[in-house]
Amino acid sequence: MQALILEQQEGKTLASVQSIEESRLPEGAVTVDIDWSSLNYKDALAITGTGKIIRNFPMVPGIDFAGRVHASEDPRFHVGQQVLLTGWGVGENHWGGLAAQARVNGDWLVPMPKGMDGRKAMIVGTAGFTAMLCVMALEDAGVRPESGEVVVTGASGGVGSTAVALLHKLGYKVAAVSGRESTHDYLRQLGASRILSRDEFAETRPLEKQIWAGAVDTVGDKVLAKVLAQMNYGGCVAACGLAGGFALPTTVMPFILRNVRLQGVDSVMTPAARRAQAWERLVQDLPQSFYAQSATQISLEQAPEFAAKIVNNQIQGRTLVKIA
Ligand code: NDP
Repeated sequence: MQALILEQQEGKTLASVQSIEESRLPEGAVTVDIDWSSLNYKDALAITGTGKIIRNFPMVPGIDFAGRVHASEDPRFHVGQQVLLTGWGVGENHWGGLAAQARVNGDWLVPMPKGMDGRKAMIVGTAGFTAMLCVMALEDAGVRPESGEVVVTGASGGVGSTAVALLHKLGYKVAAVSGRESTHDYLRQLGASRILSRDEFAETRPLEKQIWAGAVDTVGDKVLAKVLAQMNYGGCVAACGLAGGFALPTTVMPFILRNVRLQGVDSVMTPAARRAQAWERLVQDLPQSFYAQSATQISLEQAPEFAAKIVNNQIQGRTLVKIA
């Protein structure tokens, strides 16, 4: 079987497509024939070696995949069944989705939701799933379309694009923050009603004019600090990313004077029931047009090249990897 293998040589990460024996797959109750995978920001960090994502080499990266059950010792899954997987440390500390097959724990698999297929599920992938979790977090905090405008940062990326499309479909007025002018047409097509430059988010005071009822932040650092300072009284920020850095140079002012909520969002360890709920919501709320607008399809061999592009902020939307 073909697999993208990451190896380490003199402290550098090397990525190459290799032919390996199925017997080398790790232990697990379910073996899946993979049809589609995708590249997320975390995959890009792992494949390029930019971030310390992987500790044990050799490793097959790919934090998500969709395919058909090849063999199963888990009574919940039968041969031929369509399944998908995101997170759980797969592609980080357990061989992942950028390969013809994966062998995993049955608890990590999600039966393919009705109305979804493998290709669409991987256009969504971890990034889109996380965007849905962020939207659900805003809903849980009482942010409604009539509450006011919602801002999405890192808007042209995988999480950001999906969040813009979902929020627009749900009736929210969406402002998009992007560092690139080349993305503006794309963001308008997804449903952003206005676009703000990332440069405007470089400096902040502890409290600024109140603008946002809700926010989905994929960037962190100064951008998140500015968003917090601009939240309406009682607003909520769903923070899931660190594309701009992991620091958070802020004060307690938005929290203690404006009742602002900062809600963290993690997609890796999301419990099964919340996962199923999020995938059902994606089937229902993500417009069909999103799948054509936001996907760039590549081959397994192109994964290292596109991983470098993601790290260098040269990709918009989602990168879909055709495996079979
Ligand atoms: P992408 O690379 O697809 O998108 C990231 C976007 O962030 C870019 O398109 C760009 O948007 C913006 N950006 C890039 N570099 C910078 C920078 N230096 N400063 C400010 N903005 C920048 O990544 P994903 O959408 O896949 O992931 C986004 C973030 O969310 C990542 O940090 C990722 O690790 C995190 N994440 C977290 C998850 C969780 O479970 N909590 C799950 C999935 C992702 P633009 O060009 O429009 O400005």
